[in-house]
Order: sequence, then C-alpha cells, then structure tokens
Amino acid sequence: MIPGLPQLKQKLLDEIYPRSCCSCGKDIREGDEHGLCWDCRADSVALGPPWCERCGQIVAGRIDHEFICSDCEENPPRYQRGRSLYHYEGGVREAIHALKYHRDFSVIPDLSRLLLAGLKTYFPESEGLVLVAVPLHRSRQRKRGFNQDAELIRGVRKLDPSLKTWAGLKRIKNTDTQTKLSKAARRENVRSAFAVKKNVKVPERILIIDDVMTTGATLDACARALKKAGGVEINTLTIARG
Ligand SMILES: [Zn+2]
Ligand SMILES: [Zn+2]
Repeated sequence: MIPGLPQLKQKLLDEIYPRSCCSCGKDIREGDEHGLCWDCRADSVALGPPWCERCGQIVAGRIDHEFICSDCEENPPRYQRGRSLYHYEGGVREAIHALKYHRDFSVIPDLSRLLLAGLKTYFPESEGLVLVAVPLHRSRQRKRGFNQDAELIRGVRKLDPSLKTWAGLKRIKNTDTQTKLSKAARRENVRSAFAVKKNVKVPERILIIDDVMTTGATLDACARALKKAGGVEINTLTIARG
C-alpha cells in the first residue's frame, strides 16, 4: 500500500527527528506510538473495579454490591463519579512527567488515546458531555506556558471531534504556595480556589479532565465551583491516581 500524505510526512519527520520513548528511550517508528512505546504502555497497571462507585478508589477483596468508600461517606465529593485509569507509576507516570516538566508534547497523542478509551468505557453516554480542564492560576500558566489538561483535551478532540470543551472555569487562588500548610489547611485552601467566569453559562453535563488525582481535593473544588454556578452533572476522569 502506498502511504498517504500524513504517514509520509510522519516517516520523513521520523528520519529527521527520530522519536524515542520517554520512559525506556527505545526508538519509536510505529505510526500509533508517539512519545510512549507500546511496551511501556502495556507495563502500566490499569485500575479497575472493585472500587468506590463515587471516587474510584480501589477496594481490596471481593465486593458484590455497590460500594462507597469511607472517605466519600464522610465527605461526599461534589462530583458524581470520579474515575482514574492507571496507577501513577511506570510508563504512564514518565509520560505525564515528560509532558508537565519537560514540555514533551510527543506524549499527548498517546495519553489522549488512553483518556478517550477511558471516557468511552466509563462514560459511554457521552451525548452532551463537555470536557473541562482543571485551570492553572494565571501566574502558573505564564510560567509553564501551557495547561497540560487543556492540551490533553485538545488531543482527545483530535481523535473524536464530536466532543465539546468549555473554558469557563478559572483558578482564583494560587495554591502552589501552600507547601508549608498542613494537609487539612491545604484542603481548606483549595476548596475555594476555583470560580466560574462572569457571564458564562455552565454546561449541564461536565467531565473534568486532569492528569493525576492525588487526594481528589482539587477535582472536588472544581466540581464545587461548577455546581454552584449551575452545573448539574459533574464527573471526573484522570489518567492516573497516585
Ligand atoms: Zn518505552
Ligand atoms: Zn470514594
């Protein structure tokens, strides 16, 4: 088969700028591998049930009923369903690092493909679902030059242009400076870190996209702001949980 123009262009680019896997350094020559090779992707540990229906926290042992973890029982998150796809380790962790800290955009198509697969699996009724990035504070955005979540959403929409996105959420508090605070104080501080921009209409069904979920406080704070401004159904999807 004669390769099409995009493939030819990629082949040429590969000759000039050989790509390599961000995790193992292996040369990448395949069309559907970009910055993370298949081996490293396959090495990453996918998360799956049994887990908390609400936040997606993995539960040890067998569960044959709908389960809500004690964290969610005590402090119900504002989002309806939170799902993470991988443990934050191995190739997936390397790829997220490469993007965030080394501006390696070559991993975006690989990570976007994982996100889209997760979206189709856990949110199959994607009709009317609007993707929202966790916004960075102005000063952080200026320093980094890009928002990784917004870039990932752009990657997902390249694969499925029918998906919509919305950029009406903003970060009003810079929470970078809170490393000296206690865990509880940090949680409290992030609670009011987000707000919806003035005079914008919040979509009814939202899927917040983030690279990594740690405590879930940031996602909950986003969901809180969106709900307050009229969002009806807020869900979250992250590549990894660490
Ligand atoms: Zn690799
Ligand atoms: Zn939970």
